[in-house]
Amino acid sequence: MWQQWVERLSAIDDAVNFFETFCDELSNGLSVDAVLVWEVVSADHALRLISISQVGYVQDQPVELSPKGSVFAQSLRSQTVSSTEHAAGHAVFLSNVKALEFPVTLVVPWVNKGQTVALISLHRCAEAFDDALTAQVQSLAICLSDLCVKRLSSLNLSCAQASGRVADMPFQGFPCAPGLVLGTGFTVSPVADLEAVSMKPLLNYESDMDILSKAVQSVKQDISALSGILSKNLSKDQADIFSAYSQMVDRHGLMRDIAECMEKEHLCVQSALKQVVLKTMHQLESVADPYLRARAVDIQDVGRRILAYLQSTQRARCVYPERTILVGEEVSLMDIASIPEGQLVGICSLEGSRYSHVGILARAIGLPTVMGVKALSLEMAEGVEIFLDGCNGEVIVGVSEQQQHRLHLKISDHHQLTTQMATLRQEPARTSDNYAVSLWVNLGLGSDLHQALSVPADGVGLFRSEVPFMLCEYFPSESTQRLMYRQILRALAPKPVIIRTLDIGGDKRLPYFDFTEDNPYLGWRGLRFCLDHPEVFRTQLRAMITASEGLNNLHIMVPMVSHMHEVKTVRRYLDTVVDECLAEGFDVQMPALGIMIEVPAAAMQIRAFSKMVDFFSVGSNDLVQYMLAVDRNNARVAHLFNCFHPSILRLLQQSVDDAHACRKHISICGELAADPLGVILLVAMGFDTLSMSATGLDAAKWVLHKFSLSTCQQLLKQALLCDDASAVLALLHRAFHAAGMSRLVGIHEERVIQ
Ligand code: PEP
Ligand code: MG
Repeated sequence: MWQQWVERLSAIDDAVNFFETFCDELSNGLSVDAVLVWEVVSADHALRLISISQVGYVQDQPVELSPKGSVFAQSLRSQTVSSTEHAAGHAVFLSNVKALEFPVTLVVPWVNKGQTVALISLHRCAEAFDDALTAQVQSLAICLSDLCVKRLSSLNLSCAQASGRVADMPFQGFPCAPGLVLGTGFTVSPVADLEAVSMKPLLNYESDMDILSKAVQSVKQDISALSGILSKNLSKDQADIFSAYSQMVDRHGLMRDIAECMEKEHLCVQSALKQVVLKTMHQLESVADPYLRARAVDIQDVGRRILAYLQSTQRARCVYPERTILVGEEVSLMDIASIPEGQLVGICSLEGSRYSHVGILARAIGLPTVMGVKALSLEMAEGVEIFLDGCNGEVIVGVSEQQQHRLHLKISDHHQLTTQMATLRQEPARTSDNYAVSLWVNLGLGSDLHQALSVPADGVGLFRSEVPFMLCEYFPSESTQRLMYRQILRALAPKPVIIRTLDIGGDKRLPYFDFTEDNPYLGWRGLRFCLDHPEVFRTQLRAMITASEGLNNLHIMVPMVSHMHEVKTVRRYLDTVVDECLAEGFDVQMPALGIMIEVPAAAMQIRAFSKMVDFFSVGSNDLVQYMLAVDRNNARVAHLFNCFHPSILRLLQQSVDDAHACRKHISICGELAADPLGVILLVAMGFDTLSMSATGLDAAKWVLHKFSLSTCQQLLKQALLCDDASAVLALLHRAFHAAGMSRLVGIHEERVIQ
């Protein structure tokens, strides 16, 4: 039963409704006389009553049903139980409640990220609570833990807004791309994910109806095309499914319900679609007839198909706010690319971490970004004024008049710092004792080519070739790729450019080639895919090599290497392709070949790989992910993703030593290279090149300018003796304070605390 509760409650976007339904469902389903939810207000160590079964949200002057419930509600309404002990035995809480007329009480903590965020109290007149019931409520609390936090935040925000107060607590996420901005929230949902669609009001009925009927038409065409293809191999019964699908979507079915919902509930077309489909699914799931129950999946499928069409049309027609802050469960590259130039000022993602690819891309184009803002829900952010601090990971939703002045001061303070750092832009990168450091840039997006050219970097240390692949409609042809690569090689020549071969998998998906895996980060990624599709790989190699004709600044690098045989195969392909191109009359040279050190096994074998390749580049984003067994894209474990873990520092030092012992060049192109705290350790380790987003170069030069090589080396020596990452970070933090650079490391404060 509780699984159905989970599903039903997960679909409720409205916070008041969520807690009301929660209490009512539990009270009815478990035969409990009263169920209450109390928020733990950590700031003043108190419990605030949120909702009571059959009475509802207590701030809303509830309708009181039974006399007993009424007395109970009256006695508890707006009551705040003062207690510092609520989490440890709930002693004071229990004594308060026992004084009321329910002698049997059970209290279940609602825990999120190790903190008790709320208490669920269940009350009966007589019958004691048994273990099974306790376990059921506990399970429900675990399953709905993230949602509880979101809904509590939403309640607090609307309470603050309704009473004209300022929402005092900013939402906390992971700082991802520096910068402070004010803008208007614009929410986006993942493609064809009904659950993730947020509830937005209806703005224009005619226009929404027009989009809906076109989407429905397209879905019907798809269904009929599919039925045409499959009908030869299907029985009559099976083929009938397709006509049932068609009927489901036409004017008398789903479409009529959606139109009605838009009119009656004033919801926009996507929200109405979600509401109708989920409601119909739940109705079907609860009927006894197994055939009808199974139709719930069909409705869901049809709903997703319609949604996909709605999203693509609406994307094209969308009117974005002048200063858009994009807010989504997971913001995609397509979402970013859809916004007209100059209108996007910031990104806020509810999922993901600093090392997710969307975060890396945001850094590359210099867009202030906060990731993993778990407590925020999309409904709160739509159309409201938002302040986003990409340095500290803070997001204020619904900025008030009173806050404006303070926030503008913060923005100008940050602006002052970046202007100061930019004064070194044209200077060579050197430590304070004049040790020259080679800084290169990472490229991928077309637009960051201009940025890269405007900052003096010594070369391109990583061109992520998969990004242009993602923006195509199908695998790009050799000539399309050649043009793209030649543009970069020519723009940078004679400086070296390292182009990385296609690196898809993990969180990098091609819109035209989707596949699902249980463990995408341990699966078909990077070189593994390319070696299974030599036609794709060879086309790409040919495009790169022919593009370099007459320029000769091309270096080729392969990602996700873990075995020697993979490198041998790459070497074989490269030799063949270069021979082929020469035979066809291209005047080309054999490019330098390198591998990325992303898998710990590859780091341990640098000496062996040295026989096959010309250079190495450490991809610290993946190396840390695999060393620490922490998914780089998962906000739940993002606090464990720490590049300053002593084991990482030791492996990096060993990699540099091994590469140098074999006289090979070794660079680092992961995000650690752009981390002000990382820069000083990496220089001391002896990396030949640090490669980073163009937007990180100013800060790196600024840091180098303030520290001497010998100080960096001393700090590294001490760091390598530390037992854990927090000790390393505390050490570096102290050094930055001493050098008067605390403002630059504010962004890493939370990592020191952990
Ligand atoms: C890395 O893993 O550090 C890297 C540079 O590659 P990507 O972030 O594209 O996986
Ligand atoms: Mg990588």
